[in-house]
Amino acid sequence: MPMQKKIVALPKLNNLTPTMESTALKLMEEAGELAQAIGKLRGMSGERRTVGEREALARITRELLDVAQTAVSMMFVLEEHYGVSIEKALDEHIKKLIQKGYLVPGEGNTE
Ligand SMILES: [Mg+2]
Repeated sequence: MPMQKKIVALPKLNNLTPTMESTALKLMEEAGELAQAIGKLRGMSGERRTVGEREALARITRELLDVAQTAVSMMFVLEEHYGVSIEKALDEHIKKLIQKGYLVPGEGNTE
């Protein structure tokens, strides 16, 4: 069985001048919004649920994509301003997952 992957292509935003600091801060902001959306779905603050589950899930999904978009923006900053190779880092990332036992390489699984 081939390794299951979720391939998400997100654009480089061309109407912003992001820095490492601004994208990192934004990433934390967006992660907070995601946590808030999940908290709302679960009614974790004891508040009455004001939106239905479908709407709550839609909001969670939107916030998750904001997190992903911001992470991608930060990758562009690292590549373009600091000469980091995300491609190389990605290879090492996969190796790390295997080493930690989170990803089990099998037949056709390591390509
Ligand atoms: Mg957001």
